[in-house]
Amino acid sequence: MLRIAVSSCYNCLGHLHAGPNEPYPGQQLTNPETAMPSAAPSALEFACRMPKAELHVHIEGTLEPQLAFALARRNGITLPYADEDALRAAYHFADLQSFLDLYYSCASVLRTADDFTDLMLAYLKRAKADQVVHTEIFFDPQTHTARGVPMGTVIEGLIAGIKEGRLRLGISAKLILCFLRHLSEGEAFDTLTEAEPFLDYIDGFGLDSSERGHPPKKFASVFEKCRALGKPVVAHAGEEGPPCYITEALDILKACRIDHGVRAVEDSALLERLVREQVPLTVCPLSNVRLCVYPDMRTHSLPQLLAAGAMVTINSDDPAYFGGYMNDNIRAVQAAFCLDEQTWRRVGRNSIEASWASTEEKAVWLAQLDPVG
Ligand SMILES: [Zn+2]
Repeated sequence: MLRIAVSSCYNCLGHLHAGPNEPYPGQQLTNPETAMPSAAPSALEFACRMPKAELHVHIEGTLEPQLAFALARRNGITLPYADEDALRAAYHFADLQSFLDLYYSCASVLRTADDFTDLMLAYLKRAKADQVVHTEIFFDPQTHTARGVPMGTVIEGLIAGIKEGRLRLGISAKLILCFLRHLSEGEAFDTLTEAEPFLDYIDGFGLDSSERGHPPKKFASVFEKCRALGKPVVAHAGEEGPPCYITEALDILKACRIDHGVRAVEDSALLERLVREQVPLTVCPLSNVRLCVYPDMRTHSLPQLLAAGAMVTINSDDPAYFGGYMNDNIRAVQAAFCLDEQTWRRVGRNSIEASWASTEEKAVWLAQLDPVG
């Protein structure tokens, strides 16, 4: 067969022969972004099985339709969708804002500490199945406090889930409190004040929600306060927003990781800096395609970031909404770019090294990633 002759990698066939939206041989038609070819190459198997950290996942974005309806029933809430299928059918997003509108609507089913515990445990189980050994999880308290759910209820529930996850599943997790950037810095300060009694349970601070028109510098003062509290900070930047938002996140907010950062390829000096300083980028491939940052996976900037030597990690962002968890993202990347095992090992190492796990924990996981002998 001509197709076999031009490439020994089954995944690459689609890249060579199919149009941007056409299925390629072996690809399942039900979910093209996450489909796994029938003859999986060993690099893909390695990537799926390697121990890895997930550093960019929003706990509210792990709310699956089944759990959303179960919590709605438990709390006597009516969702504006007839059933789970109707909710899933609404998962067609034109951009980040259209997703956020649905996302905030679904989050309304989260009311009690038990709801947050159930949500956390459901995610940790799913992450564990994808060989995620450690995860640093965003939560958006303003989404809940604005509905009258106390900060303590949210954090108590999430922490109970993390403790149970560690005990039952052996998975390690940390919490990152995110400020909603479409709200004011004053409201972020109010949130920080509410969170201060729970600082022992918060491992860092982040910035998420609608990026365009809300540059990192808008939150310069509140992030200064977060750093003064001794916590590391991260920020979403360079997803829909321009590359200069990445620079602001680094220079003004002093972010130690950039969440997304995929538009860095548009500014060569910035990309050089990210590589030179080895700033971790928490890239979320399926999210970027679902939110139309890229028209399809094959046009994603990931290969350019990797080729430049950037410290790339792969993450699921809001997996319930974007078509998949950690290994679904890995499969989608592999189907588009056919990375080799060495590159996947590097991505795995990046995720562990960029995490806030202890030196001892990192050493254990890194040793598991190294080639035998
Ligand atoms: Zn995100």
